[in-house]
Amino acid sequence: MYYRFCRLLKSQKGFTLVELMVVLIIIAILVAIAIPLYAGTQNNARNRACDANIRTINGAIAQYYAEFSEYPDSIDDLVDAHFLKDYPDCPWDGVGDNDADGYTADYSIDTNEDPPVAQCDVDHS
Ligand SMILES: [Zn+2]
Repeated sequence: MYYRFCRLLKSQKGFTLVELMVVLIIIAILVAIAIPLYAGTQNNARNRACDANIRTINGAIAQYYAEFSEYPDSIDDLVDAHFLKDYPDCPWDGVGDNDADGYTADYSIDTNEDPPVAQCDVDHS
């Protein structure tokens, strides 16, 4: 077996065109499978990051209520009272486009609920 392998390595023969085509087809099939899986993973990560933001905002709403005995009207109240360090950013809307001067309002507080809850206003499709 070892002798046969060494003889194969010393051989000057290359791959045939058919062998190369088979390898390229196998690689193309693997890539065709991997790309949709990768896109699905990215979308799942964005959704989970948005859910985590909503949970953080809901926690800040509860802290605001514990401090002031009233619920905040908007995300601005939470940021102004330092219950949120910065304006939250939904990953579906791009990252880093929210700040105190030009807040694009990715999230809002649904005051019709009791207690009020945060909701994402960005289209996730
Ligand atoms: Zn979102």
